[in-house]
Amino acid sequence: MKIHEYQARQILSDAGIPVPQATVVRTPEEAAEAFKSFAGPMCVVKAQVYAGGRGKAGFVKLVKSADEARQAAQFMLTHRMTSYQTGPEGVPVSVLLVAPGVEIAKEYYLGMTLDRSRSTLTMIASAEGGVEIEEVAKKSPEKVLKEPLHPLLGLQGYQARELAYKLGFKDKLAGEAARVMVNLSTAFIKTDASLAEINPLVVTKDGKLLAIDAKFNFDDSALFRHNDIVAMEDESQEKPLDVRAKKANLNYIALDGTIGCLVNGAGLAMATMDIIKLHGAEPANFLDVGGSVTADGAIEAFRIILSDPKVKGILVNIFGGIAKCDVIADALVKAGREVGFKVPVVVRLEGTNVDKAREILRNAKSELPMILGASDLTDAAKKVTAAVKAA
Ligand code: GDP
Ligand code: MN
Repeated sequence: MKIHEYQARQILSDAGIPVPQATVVRTPEEAAEAFKSFAGPMCVVKAQVYAGGRGKAGFVKLVKSADEARQAAQFMLTHRMTSYQTGPEGVPVSVLLVAPGVEIAKEYYLGMTLDRSRSTLTMIASAEGGVEIEEVAKKSPEKVLKEPLHPLLGLQGYQARELAYKLGFKDKLAGEAARVMVNLSTAFIKTDASLAEINPLVVTKDGKLLAIDAKFNFDDSALFRHNDIVAMEDESQEKPLDVRAKKANLNYIALDGTIGCLVNGAGLAMATMDIIKLHGAEPANFLDVGGSVTADGAIEAFRIILSDPKVKGILVNIFGGIAKCDVIADALVKAGREVGFKVPVVVRLEGTNVDKAREILRNAKSELPMILGASDLTDAAKKVTAAVKAA
């Protein structure tokens, strides 16, 4: 799960990390008022969206008057933001942050994530901050420092101090930077985050250390113990199909191919995607309807798959263990009646109540000619890829 920058700033601030004051606004007028309330020569107006790269996209703007603040806000609130982190469709903007502008002397990067190859939480730091850290890592990996955390002790003081010195901090600032690092790592662990970033962490011209951007992603599997974080979610920032899939308890990930997949079980879903690729086509999605799928869940799954215009064929691959094949077959027929199948739907069912399921599909054959039976998984993959290629 993601949250907005203004919410992530609050987490940083609660963790004792210095963050400049800021006001959340929703209209150009409020942005102008916020500028006046800070009574400084400069403010920054920042679109609150679930994506980075705002600076380059023109959605982080330094303004020098209330009027400029109003204009920047007007622009941001009436345009979707597109950056390298969004698709070409961009993301909508409905909330902005107005903060006093800081005079930056130097920008640093500071992040926390799980290093899966080492199986440890890891702090990532770089003196090349402000810019895309992925680019720095590609071009000059030696400029990206990584410090693994002890599984029980977390980021220890000596590690943070060493990192701070390696980044070039000296004297009092080195101590402050080390404290920011320890506090960030603590906040990361406490909130069950999967990613926490301060980019940039800046030293101002008058020698202050400040976090002026903040990003937190959270581990969905741990959200059950963080009601306060769940309450922060802004569904307008998610893709509509993702929101629907989540509500129906479906594990859905949109992909770029043409074959929609409806499968029960993540492992079977992966195998289904593999076999589609083996036969020369690409899956349009990963969709695991889960072991205990209901008819309603399955119908919603079909609706979601079919509302993707890239889908030219569907492969239904169900192993009836806890899930019953006849429930899926019923859902398939209902979905067909409701949404109408305009693309071939190749069905491979095996397991609990499979005979009943086959009968349901046989009886619906004349009504729903787009449903094609398959004798096994290879047969199903061949049929669906052939149908898509012919389309
Ligand atoms: P992002 O592009 O989405 O990561 O948004 P950021 O909040 O990181 O802002 C992008 C860039 O704008 C930063 O790296 C800074 O260079 C600049 N910026 C943001 N806030 C300020 C500010 O208060 N003062 C100055 N001078 N620059 C800022
Ligand atoms: Mn940033």
